[in-house]
Amino acid sequence: MSEKKSRGQARYDALAYEKKNYFETASEQERRAMFAYAEGYKAFLNEAKTEREACAAAVRMAEEKGFAEYRFGDPLAAGDKRYFVNRGKSVVLFRIGAKNLEEDGLRILVAHIDSPRLDVKQNPLYEEAGMCFLKTHYYGGLKKYQWTALPLALHGVVVLRDGRKVQLCVGEAPDDPVFYIDDLLPHLGGEQMAGKASKVIEGEQLNLVVGGLPCTDEEVKHRVKYTVLDHLNARYGMCEEDFLSAELCAVPALPARDVGFDRALIGAYGHDDRVCAYPALTAVLEGAGGHTALAILADKEEIGSEGNTGMQSKVYEDLMEEICLALGANFRKVRFASKCLSADVTAAYDPNFAGVFERMNAAMLSCGACMSKFTGARGKSGSNDANAEFVGEVRRMFAEAGVVWQTAELGKVDAGGGGTVAKFLANLNIDTVDLGVPVLSMHAPWELVSKADLYGCHRAFLAFLR
Ligand code: MN
Ligand code: MN
Repeated sequence: MSEKKSRGQARYDALAYEKKNYFETASEQERRAMFAYAEGYKAFLNEAKTEREACAAAVRMAEEKGFAEYRFGDPLAAGDKRYFVNRGKSVVLFRIGAKNLEEDGLRILVAHIDSPRLDVKQNPLYEEAGMCFLKTHYYGGLKKYQWTALPLALHGVVVLRDGRKVQLCVGEAPDDPVFYIDDLLPHLGGEQMAGKASKVIEGEQLNLVVGGLPCTDEEVKHRVKYTVLDHLNARYGMCEEDFLSAELCAVPALPARDVGFDRALIGAYGHDDRVCAYPALTAVLEGAGGHTALAILADKEEIGSEGNTGMQSKVYEDLMEEICLALGANFRKVRFASKCLSADVTAAYDPNFAGVFERMNAAMLSCGACMSKFTGARGKSGSNDANAEFVGEVRRMFAEAGVVWQTAELGKVDAGGGGTVAKFLANLNIDTVDLGVPVLSMHAPWELVSKADLYGCHRAFLAFLR
């Protein structure tokens, strides 16, 4: 490397922009930190496969860091570390900073903790051909054919007739049974395979095998179903009617694993959006800047952020207003001064499907956390298109802290699109831009991310809260 750059080349390098691979530019120490941070993330993924579990895990981690539960009306003061749980399905963690709230505003990180999955129907149980099944209704946008022929676990809650709530998690422990959705053998799949991929497996074929053992009493009409009901009753005190008030989710019974000989990547269920939720959570737990910082971990993003646990619920606005009231600050002024990173995943450039991307504006794997100035579809429709001024401000924060980051759009123009919760925060008159982690095979039962991008997101959030 003794050859000197020509003056022209040096000037070109100074003027031109190029994305850089974060692994390549990271110091040895930083690489070690990337791999260490990923271990905590994988443990979080394995503990938290549903929004309820993610919520409980966040609360556990927060309490370990000295955060205490907050209820509307509680007094607050600088230095307070609190968490607010919304119906067990979303959670806001916050710390009160020393800076003036009306001048400095809130620093908000918002991610979602629900992921695509198969929800058990309200009247789901039936027996046929020697097997017992649970009918499901898929949750979020998924390729239905991907959810067959793999081990599935059941997570959730059942509210019994008497109001008692029973937790259920089957299929995660090594000696647990798992559940299964069958697919057609290729020998008889000619007609199936000639059809449209969206019809290869249809919604009403996503039926979960949950039993196959007939009871010994030959007079029982549904002997396999009897065995399943008998087990559910003995284990959980359930009867069939209790499915009516249950939320049971079938998710892949697969733990998070390192991927590749070099372990650079992580494969797991539910990177979308726990790969942003985890850094948002750890940033607020660890961060000790002067700002009042919030990590909002919301539910129901995958089905439009509706409902009282989704980001469109008034509860988050109410909480922010309560914080302002407790600190004697004008909520309208505070909102105007607040800043938000909407932390959601984006599509990583996939060389096997290059045609749907525009490479210059695609998120490249391992090139750091990815900012999306806008999302949406058909000409940015439905998108919060962040102001250049705010993007510039975030850019300066990252430059000061040495954050490795990139920008991208989700796919090439008119190839499709997607949205995030960014617009709901922006609608509150809060400067908001999307920043998250690029994912391969998004919404598949097992998705892929880079440890460099996870760590880049962690660094970006710390810089934002500094
Ligand atoms: Mn998402
Ligand atoms: Mn999603």
